[in-house]
Order: sequence, then C-alpha cells, then structure tokens
Amino acid sequence: MSDVIESEQPKCKHGTLISLANIMHLEDRDLRIVELTIRCAICEEVFRFLGAPTGLSMTSPTVDVPGTTLHIPIVPGERSIEDIRAGAIKFKV
Ligand SMILES: [Zn+2]
Repeated sequence: MSDVIESEQPKCKHGTLISLANIMHLEDRDLRIVELTIRCAICEEVFRFLGAPTGLSMTSPTVDVPGTTLHIPIVPGERSIEDIRAGAIKFKV
C-alpha cells in the first residue's frame, strides 16, 4: 500500500499568468513605487518573487513578507539614487 495520494484533478501547469501593477507616488521625493503581483489565470495560485530582500526601500527592489508582491522604486528621467536619498525634487542638469 502506498502513502502517496493521487489527486484526481490534473496539476495546473500555470500556462497563463496575470500580472497586476499598482503604482504609489511619494510626491515629496518625486518617487514612485511599483507594486507587482503575478498569479495564474487558471488556478489563481500566486507566484513568489525570489532574491529580493523583505521590506520596503526607496532605492532598491524589495518584497513583502510572503514574497508575493515586488516593490520596485522608479524615478522619471535622469534622477539618481543620490537624488532620492537627498530628497531632491529637481532633475539633474
Ligand atoms: Zn495554475
């Protein structure tokens, strides 16, 4: 007798994925943070992002505690990380 229980439903191969992006605008620093999630369109399983640290940063990508939302800071034009750290709101010349 086997301890393995076979599921009667075929396992989803997650062939179609849906991405959802929300963008938060931190106006005092002219910084936006993209919140990205990805799930399977068929079984709705949520994917986890690998490799990014947990937390929230204005200068590098991070994930939430379950790892299912990737936070990516973005800036317009030629703004730099130093501009964001300094809280500058002007574009570089
Ligand atoms: Zn699926």
